[in-house]
Amino acid sequence: MKMAPIAVTPPVEQEPTDKLTVNGIEQGLNQTTPSLLDLQPISNGLSDIITKGAINGTKISNGTATPLAELDASLLTTTYTTSPRSVPAQGSPEASSSSVCTDHMIQAKWTASHGWHAPSLQPYGPLSLMPTASCLHYATECFEGMKLYRGFDGKLRLFRPELNCNRMLLSTNRIALPAFAPQELLKLVVKLCATDGAKWLPRDRAGSFLYIRPTMIASDAALGVQRPKEALLFIILTVFPKMDDIPTGMRLLASKDDMVRAWPGGFGYAKVGANYGPSLVAQGEARGMGYNQILWLFGEDCTVTEAGASNFFVVWRTEEGKVQLVTAPLGDRIILDGVTRRSVLELARSRLTAGNEGLEAIEIVERKFTMLEVEEAVKQGRIMEAFAAGTAFFVAPVSHIHFRGKGLDIPMSEGVSGKYTKTIKEWLRGIMWGNEQHEWGYVVEDEGK
Ligand SMILES: *Cc1c(COP(=O)(O)O)cnc(C)c1O
Repeated sequence: MKMAPIAVTPPVEQEPTDKLTVNGIEQGLNQTTPSLLDLQPISNGLSDIITKGAINGTKISNGTATPLAELDASLLTTTYTTSPRSVPAQGSPEASSSSVCTDHMIQAKWTASHGWHAPSLQPYGPLSLMPTASCLHYATECFEGMKLYRGFDGKLRLFRPELNCNRMLLSTNRIALPAFAPQELLKLVVKLCATDGAKWLPRDRAGSFLYIRPTMIASDAALGVQRPKEALLFIILTVFPKMDDIPTGMRLLASKDDMVRAWPGGFGYAKVGANYGPSLVAQGEARGMGYNQILWLFGEDCTVTEAGASNFFVVWRTEEGKVQLVTAPLGDRIILDGVTRRSVLELARSRLTAGNEGLEAIEIVERKFTMLEVEEAVKQGRIMEAFAAGTAFFVAPVSHIHFRGKGLDIPMSEGVSGKYTKTIKEWLRGIMWGNEQHEWGYVVEDEGK
């Protein structure tokens, strides 16, 4: 039998561009949410690739007569559960299993022919996917991680959620998933939190949180390796353990030269599933050897990038005697632009550069630094503190780094943390749980379903 010829778009005589990815991202925006092309910088930096790379203020004509439907949270339909799930007791094995989700989830489907369909809030439950679904084969998947906090003032809060929604767009763009207006995603996140927050984060659990996982997958039922024609956005809320209280501090194992997490021109800056699966072999080894996380190094000079799925900071005294807070820069696009990282830097810049309550003034530095510099600072007694920062681990003090056969100890001047780490963490905690009223805290009104 003769195979039917594969439909191929006739080649357009065009000079190949040297910016295939940037162009592809622009085309993707144009074809899926052209309104974004009219936006000026969506945020300061998080959507770098959109603002600097793709948006040039001009729309490309894509030749379609009717624009595709954009994601629209106001079209949400609701179906509430008739078999409510039970909330695990705090500290129970169930609560720390990261497998218990709340009563509801939100879904929205996208198709290349229609655009975004009306989103729905519905009972939490399994997805239905064909075995040929693109995400199951080609890692066309990305996600976000944020938290819903039950404040000490009784209010539910998100922390700078617009940054997560912008970053989700950056991630979907990177892997050819459809674009959407980030503020519509935020409205959907808020709706789910408002629906399940009252029951799953009761007022008597002030200081606790739920983990929010917005996810997008390509769901095309076809094995062709190509831009997805169908996608599914979903949002779930999960009961998640607290991970920042390791009494002895985190022990990190610096990655060996047989393993790289991300590389220039790659996708380390996007929260795409493809960054995480392949890191689990090394992470499993590290855990088995008694380390909490891998400290990912890059290149022959052992550049320090990130710790596990958290950004990494050191506080050291320079040879000239100044105290510095140092973290890897975003420019190389090999690390994730963490919301926690950004917040640590902004708080430190506004509150620590002139010193604060018994803390010596510090300089805040985003620059490439190497493990050899860290080792040198440890040897010379100039290292003061180190910590990992991210939504899941919050601010987790680091007490030890194993690097090339040597164990490097990092001081913990306050017992369970260093002084600067402790202060920054307290500030963030205050904003997240409402002890400090701050514009970064985004209050969600519970609906108590
Ligand atoms: C999610 C993540 C972080 C932390 O980002 P936050 O926005 O602070 O949660 C850091 N590094 C990697 C690789 C991540 O996946």
